[in-house]
Amino acid sequence: MFPQLDEIHTLVRKTAREFVEKRVEPNARRIDQGWYPKELLREMGELGLLAPHAPPEYGGPGLDFRSMVIVVEELAKASPALATVTEVQGSMIVYDLIHYASGELKEKWLEPAIRGEKIIAFALSEPCCGSDAFSLETTAERVGGSWVINGTKLWITSGLYADAFLVAARTGSPKEKHKTVTLFLVERGRCVETAPVAVMGVRGTGTAEVKFNNCEVGDEAIVGGLNGAFKVVLEDLNNGRTCVGAIGLGIAQGAIKEAESYTKRRVAFDMPIINFQVVQHYIASIKAQIEAVRGVVYTAAYFRDKNSELFPLYAQIAKYLGSRLAVDATRTAMQIMGGFGYSTDSKVEMLYRDAKATEIYEGANEIVLNTLFKLAEKYG
Ligand SMILES: Cc1cc2nc3c(=O)[nH]c(=O)nc-3n(C[C@H](O)[C@H](O)[C@H](O)COP(=O)(O)OP(=O)(O)OC[C@H]3O[C@@H](n4cnc5c(N)ncnc54)[C@H](O)[C@@H]3O)c2cc1C
Repeated sequence: MFPQLDEIHTLVRKTAREFVEKRVEPNARRIDQGWYPKELLREMGELGLLAPHAPPEYGGPGLDFRSMVIVVEELAKASPALATVTEVQGSMIVYDLIHYASGELKEKWLEPAIRGEKIIAFALSEPCCGSDAFSLETTAERVGGSWVINGTKLWITSGLYADAFLVAARTGSPKEKHKTVTLFLVERGRCVETAPVAVMGVRGTGTAEVKFNNCEVGDEAIVGGLNGAFKVVLEDLNNGRTCVGAIGLGIAQGAIKEAESYTKRRVAFDMPIINFQVVQHYIASIKAQIEAVRGVVYTAAYFRDKNSELFPLYAQIAKYLGSRLAVDATRTAMQIMGGFGYSTDSKVEMLYRDAKATEIYEGANEIVLNTLFKLAEKYG
């Protein structure tokens, strides 16, 4: 139905949907209760769903970014938490390893990351700084021929279970902000301490505080060049924000499907509540928004595949509208379902909690709008 997609994307969606039905839906509650889905990530890796855009020379399926977005959308219908872990690993970490890692790092980490055998967390945010990420305080000091990393990262998805961390650290004067930040791949070891951070939604993603205490790495651990983090992180965030748009899209579809089915079963005033026009309007309004946001998310992914200069603009639009949709749709779905929607037994209750995170992670929506404003001015 969408001109940005073709037959291959229909096939990807079918594969993802089958996996979701068989493996994700039965485990979604378990994930929400805190179970980190490592074994599902491995299975997704085997099916080529974890990083569909990864080229065959590294053991990937050689598809495209639209396929990545479709997988994330399908996962989010059942488990936004699994979709979140997947998008970080696929759209950011694997992307960075392919484009910016040394031969040595690629050799060691790339194929296992694509296959879901190794999980790598993206460690940018700190207690001091999230929106203002390039004021970060973690340092990497040159000692002999090595780099010694010290600092604390916060809110790190997969942080509790990751095999390694892509860490942004200061490699020069803090006055130079983004010009003196470098990315390092740091393997989990004795120098890494992790502690859980309890969160409202996307539970089971292993959200953690991560401390690096004198972690020593060599030059080969640098990703994107010395003082090169800014460019790489911006690309990561554009990829990630497009995927968050897709997560919002999936959440909205999952919520409205659940609510619509409930309205056909629930009787009030002698009729199924779907017969009330106000309920029909609630559902119709969310469905209209879903179709609109689909267009935007697929267009962003299409622009990414075509290396269009419009990609960053559409990535912001996808993130902003997708996350807003997720919050609106889950609130509406819960309202339609009344008390049952509010019960912790309802799927919509989980989706409602998960939806809120999409307005915050990969950049709070206010930051996304700041960027969107600048890009929209540039492109008219
Ligand atoms: C569930 C979850 C998972 C996450 N996963 C990761 C991860 O894997 N890796 C990682 O590095 N980080 C991760 N984060 C961190 C996330 O990216 C930050 O929370 C986010 O960037 C906001 O930063 P902050 O929380 O420090 O908020 P702050 O920077 O303190 O901002 C608070 C609020 O102030 C307002 N604000 C701040 N600056 C501006 C401005 N310039 N203009 C307008 N308004 C402004 C906004 O409303 C913003 O929401 C995750 C967060 C969550 C909640």
